[in-house]
Amino acid sequence: MSEHLLSVENIGRTFGGFKALEGITANFEQNKVTAVIGPNGAGKSTFFNVLSGVLPPSTGRIAYKGKDLTGTPQHRFVHLGIARSYQITNIFPLLTVHENVRVAAQALHSRYNIWTNRERLRDLDEKADAALNAVGLHGRRDAVAKFLAHGQQRALEIAVALVADPQLLLLDEPTAGMGPEETKDMVALIERLAAERTILLVEHKMKMILGLSDRILVLHHGKLIADGSPQQIQSDPEVRRVYLGQ
Ligand code: ADP
Ligand code: MG
Repeated sequence: MSEHLLSVENIGRTFGGFKALEGITANFEQNKVTAVIGPNGAGKSTFFNVLSGVLPPSTGRIAYKGKDLTGTPQHRFVHLGIARSYQITNIFPLLTVHENVRVAAQALHSRYNIWTNRERLRDLDEKADAALNAVGLHGRRDAVAKFLAHGQQRALEIAVALVADPQLLLLDEPTAGMGPEETKDMVALIERLAAERTILLVEHKMKMILGLSDRILVLHHGKLIADGSPQQIQSDPEVRRVYLGQ
């Protein structure tokens, strides 16, 4: 398992008696973009919750860089370099753009005694600024988050995830609610981020997915029904039937 960045083996997750995920096995390589698609309720967000340590799997194993992470608390995932954004916005609306990212940096480095150490405080500020630069939000540094355009708020969430300097970044519907222009900006941002890290994203916009992804996983009723290149997925008859409605 150790040659893969991330491996999942026979992952299942139940809620009560309901099987939200069942028997998922997949390996993820470094510096690839993988899209996870499937109808609403297919288990995509649950899969991301399991991969990022938000929810433990009910069955199966997760390994990151060959290390077994099954049952490990979420903060360990973040420290090891697995970070994520959420389908629903979770930024602090009344904090500034920079404060939002700095709070995340602070939480991550809480072992620093920042209140008595100016150098540490400056260090956190710099980490926050670097993350804002990476998503192109540096010019809005001091804006109050709730006044950002929707697309910029989603970029801010990604900046929050980037303070952990993740090698694996999970993006749950990063273009949800965006029009064509904002979507284009987000695609460009994801492409820039993908040059240096592994990205998994849940998305519905097929054209975007086909252009952006090296690989596509298709979930349906909690099961992995297809896993392949965009070309393979596009011509897969079962995928066309359940997802593309053809
Ligand atoms: P997707 O992101 O593909 O739309 P989800 O992973 O959010 O789907 O949900 C998959 C299924 O699991 C849905 O039927 C949903 O209602 C159920 N589910 C997700 N999270 C929970 C939870 N915390 N408790 C109970 N049911 C859940
Ligand atoms: Mg979802």
